[in-house]
Amino acid sequence: MSIQNVRSFVAGQWVRSDDNARLIQSAVTGETIACAGNDTLDTESMLDYGRNVGGPALRALTFHDRARMIKALATYLNDHKQALYDISFATGATQKDHLIDIDGGIGTMFVFASKGRREMPDSQVYLDGNIEPLSRQGTFQGQHICTPIHGVAVHINAFNFPVWGMLEKLAPALLAGVPAIVKPATASCYVTEHCVQLLLDSGVLPDGALQLISGGVGNLLDQLDSQDVVSFTGSAHTAVALRSKANIIEKSIRFIAEQDSLNASMLGPDAIAGTPAFELFVNEVSREMTAKAGQKCTAIRRVFAPALQIDSLLEAIKARLAKIVVGDPAAAATTMGALVSNDQKQDVLDKIALLATDAERVFGDPDNFEVKGADASKGAFLPPMLLHCASPDIAKHVHDVEAFGPVSTVMPYRDIPHAVSLFNRGQGSLVASVITHDADVAREVALGSGAFHGRLYFNNRDSMKESTGHGSPLPHMVHGGPGRAGGGEEMGGVRGVMHYMQRTAIQGSPEILSKISQRWVPGAQQITQKDHPFTRTFHELELGETLNTGLREITIADIEQFAHFTGDTFYAHMDDAAARRNPFFPGRVAHGYLLLSFAAGLFVQPDEGPVLANTGLDNLRFMKPVEAGDSIQVRLTVKQKTPRNDTYGEVRWDVSLSNQNSELVAEYDLLTMNAYQLG
Ligand code: NAP
Repeated sequence: MSIQNVRSFVAGQWVRSDDNARLIQSAVTGETIACAGNDTLDTESMLDYGRNVGGPALRALTFHDRARMIKALATYLNDHKQALYDISFATGATQKDHLIDIDGGIGTMFVFASKGRREMPDSQVYLDGNIEPLSRQGTFQGQHICTPIHGVAVHINAFNFPVWGMLEKLAPALLAGVPAIVKPATASCYVTEHCVQLLLDSGVLPDGALQLISGGVGNLLDQLDSQDVVSFTGSAHTAVALRSKANIIEKSIRFIAEQDSLNASMLGPDAIAGTPAFELFVNEVSREMTAKAGQKCTAIRRVFAPALQIDSLLEAIKARLAKIVVGDPAAAATTMGALVSNDQKQDVLDKIALLATDAERVFGDPDNFEVKGADASKGAFLPPMLLHCASPDIAKHVHDVEAFGPVSTVMPYRDIPHAVSLFNRGQGSLVASVITHDADVAREVALGSGAFHGRLYFNNRDSMKESTGHGSPLPHMVHGGPGRAGGGEEMGGVRGVMHYMQRTAIQGSPEILSKISQRWVPGAQQITQKDHPFTRTFHELELGETLNTGLREITIADIEQFAHFTGDTFYAHMDDAAARRNPFFPGRVAHGYLLLSFAAGLFVQPDEGPVLANTGLDNLRFMKPVEAGDSIQVRLTVKQKTPRNDTYGEVRWDVSLSNQNSELVAEYDLLTMNAYQLG
């Protein structure tokens, strides 16, 4: 059988592994199938290429350009994923596992692409928060902005997710505008290599945006500088070694770590045997033990249940695990494949030996189990193994040793405070879950345990049909955790993009802030055109373009008519004496919604034109009551423009209503969709 030479992609060229490359075995047959690593990789050129070719090309694009690029990459991978499925079986993964790794990775890219278009501007600067007023007259203000770092993102990934592990980091880095050098774990790097080949084949990535190191990284980390970032996923041991490198410390290089985690799950006191919630819990535990043969950073390692439920729970999980078919991952009947390598299998057996000093193995014998369709003596197969620890308070290892395989330990708790204290003994985890219908229990756990976990997952009969699973990190939600989980944070939507950007506090005049942020700031220049802004297309409208309306008086008849027409006869509008007793009003006042409606009446241009729809209002504030006899006028200014599709874009208008004395009465952002072309 020929051995695949796994290549690296260095400064625009594929480079083969050399004679010193590490050999990689099939998880299923134990045969050597590939080799990876090249001692002579020119890491200096890689950094130079990323920083000076990839970085500038990505930074020249807007967030929306990059989001479109990520969507195109995801679409291309989706069209070619069969090839990734085919080669991934050798890592021990089943077809169901591929859905997590390959489809999960592609799905993550789609989410980042969509978030980039919907939640980020079509410009190169991301605004963090609102304008901070720093002066009385408003001539000096503040705005936090985020811009991409000018270095490279070095992504060092674990073996268990050769595709998702790369894509969940690559998507936010590319969206930020930062090129990546990806270093997958050697054991499964042949899958990542093929995925990188597909990403490059798609033809949508600028040169230098993506490079790959298969095998060792050489002296790469010693050459990083303060504009680079390292995002590491793997064991705590390796994380400590890498993050404490002198160069990383001396140059304050960002180092994000996702490392091992003793995730826990709790059967709520209400979820007793026989209830759907109990069934749900058994499902979640057995699924987390066996998906990816338990090699999931989020897998449930510690299972807590009320002492009275322990026997029923052990029996139920054992019954479920008895149905698991261990064997050839490519066979349709197989429900659990192999671990990634025999080294990993040995590591799990060593860890089980440690756990055995605290806990009794109640299911799964590694020396005696059936493997279907493969040779158990050659492949890295293990059965699911369930342990029972009767005394978790005095246990030495169950809260400290991660057996990164199909292994969980069941333990009793007395009451919620006890359960919370046991939850927190994991010293910081990626995720903890609770199956309960009791919202008070959920709140007690959230307050007592939130600081110890990156994610808390609650599930019950109301949410079980649509819930996504304890072990599924979602691109919308933060993935990471404190303490031994690494102290890192990934994904979480736009939050994940920020890891590749620098937040900078900008202080200056409204004109300066407007130009930098591409968002009009009150106090900056206002432009008046002879045509009404509602007659001008999306592209014709300029930031700062303003319409100032005339005054309109509000009469008592207006207030009464509006009240009876809408049904809003709230006393502040109808009963003068009652309104006066209210600390906010001088007497009867106009409805806030009446003011908004009159404002629209003042500023709209009624003819059919480029304004297609009013899609909402943001940040609405009523500052000063308006009484009968007062008048209002409107200033409408183009604040920001965001293309939405091929035919129209969103215009954000800064709207302020003032009275006859030029006092601010209300302000808000009005959102409209405006056509690119008339007709
Ligand atoms: P590992 O042995 O720590 O390796 C992780 C990565 O670091 C691999 O790419 C490895 O490359 C690389 N590496 C090792 N030494 C290095 C060095 N001196 N310089 C540069 N890179 C180096 O971990 P693993 O066995 O692959 O993964 C299993 C562990 O990862 C488990 O503990 C699991 O909990 C954790 N994990 C955590 C998460 C999370 O999101 N928190 C996700 C998945 C896995 P080589 O393979 O070439 O050595």
